[in-house]
Amino acid sequence: MLAPIEQLTIDELVQKQRRFFKTQATKSMAFRLSMLTFLKESIKHYEPDLLEALREDLNKSEMDAYTTEIGFIYDEISRTKRELKRWMRPKRVRGTAIHLGMKSEIRYEPYGTVLIIAPWNYPFQLAVAPLIGAIAAGNTAVVKPSELTPNVARVLTQVLERAFTDRYVASVEGDKDTAQELLDQKWDYIFFTGSTQVGRIVNKSAAEHLTPVTLELGGKSPVIVHGDANVSIAAKRVAWGKWMNAGQTCVAPDYVLVHESQQEAFLEAVKQEAFAMFGNGVGTKRYTRIVNEAHFDRLSHYLTEGDLIFGGETSQDELKIAPTVMTNLHEDADVMKDEIFGPILPVIPYRQLDEVIEFISDRPHPLALYLFTESKDVEKTVMKHLSFGGGCVNDVIMHLTNPNLPFGGVGESGMGAYHGRTSFETFSHAKSILKNTTKFDLPVRYPNFKPAEKLI
Ligand code: NAD
Repeated sequence: MLAPIEQLTIDELVQKQRRFFKTQATKSMAFRLSMLTFLKESIKHYEPDLLEALREDLNKSEMDAYTTEIGFIYDEISRTKRELKRWMRPKRVRGTAIHLGMKSEIRYEPYGTVLIIAPWNYPFQLAVAPLIGAIAAGNTAVVKPSELTPNVARVLTQVLERAFTDRYVASVEGDKDTAQELLDQKWDYIFFTGSTQVGRIVNKSAAEHLTPVTLELGGKSPVIVHGDANVSIAAKRVAWGKWMNAGQTCVAPDYVLVHESQQEAFLEAVKQEAFAMFGNGVGTKRYTRIVNEAHFDRLSHYLTEGDLIFGGETSQDELKIAPTVMTNLHEDADVMKDEIFGPILPVIPYRQLDEVIEFISDRPHPLALYLFTESKDVEKTVMKHLSFGGGCVNDVIMHLTNPNLPFGGVGESGMGAYHGRTSFETFSHAKSILKNTTKFDLPVRYPNFKPAEKLI
């Protein structure tokens, strides 16, 4: 008879990973490379199940699921494997005049046993992308997927179980109580993606153990369409970025500030583009649904807070909300206070760029900001006055697709960053080592050095 699968408590799992880390097995480049290969092979094996789970949990179309979840991960694994040797190499740095005969270098070492907590909106990609960094850096890891996308969580667990033993990488499924139980443990690093509100809880728990954290959080990401912008391009790119995944993207355009001279043209163009790309949404088969009823109700409430320019249709049965644009928002509208995280786009006109700067800088630092303009001066002014995680000029979302750009927030939108080499560095401790020669010993630093006597 087969022995039953070992059911470990969270504490036992962490201790098991710690023991494995101590063996030094995870540290060689060969080990890291093979583990990345295993991960890729296992994802390939479960690809059909993953596509099905993404359809079940969010009605993601195969194309969306492939490009934004699975393909993204294959690319990240391939790039990491290609670059790892270079990233792992100690970095020699120069000294100053007092460092004669000494060599200084930064050595990248894994933190140890790390925790990765993921959200539901890109439930596979946002759990696995940080894991690639953790593996590349030589750590062991526990991944906690979101309970709101249970089918994806189950397939993710299968992917990880096929690729790894739990002493190295494991998935722990569960809700916030499980997350809290995980957070009660001592970790060597915590990587959290989710809301600002839960980010604060994670940061507090981490502080108990002085565990370093990366917090990839949310917030309202504005778009500015200036008076000199190419409006048709702006409308097309905003429509693509806003209604992909039904607006449930952390860096989706949250609202648009449009110069009054362009408002009419922008509204007309964005309506046409939305329809061309997503139809009326509710009846479109390949349009992503809202994750659950609580979010559906939250979003439906926003629809009553201003004038609908287009959209507004909802289907409670299918949990779908059409691409929607709103103007003339009521004073105190919740849609302009909360992160929308859904397919509703408020559009607000402005006269002077100063108003835009004041409006955005009076609010928490956004995760992303997008500016559409043909003017270098406008670009300079916006970049100088506003702080935000990252963003684009004349585009939306595309900054996160370049692995050479660190991706992360600032202030309430998060701390730390990842993607590409930054992921490797995030999960590594940069150990500074100075090595001195014993061939000579300059006396000047010692207290009994008496230069003056020699001069007399
Ligand atoms: P969430 O914060 O509710 O949940 C994220 C994770 O935290 C889940 O695994 C959940 O189980 C866990 N969790 C929930 N409550 C907890 C608690 N009290 N204690 C400990 N853990 C808890 O976020 P969400 O709804 O899954 O995701 C949406 C949010 O994530 C949005 O704000 C969005 O902007 C943000 N997000 C940010 C990024 C980014 O890269 N910056 C990416 C995707 C999503």
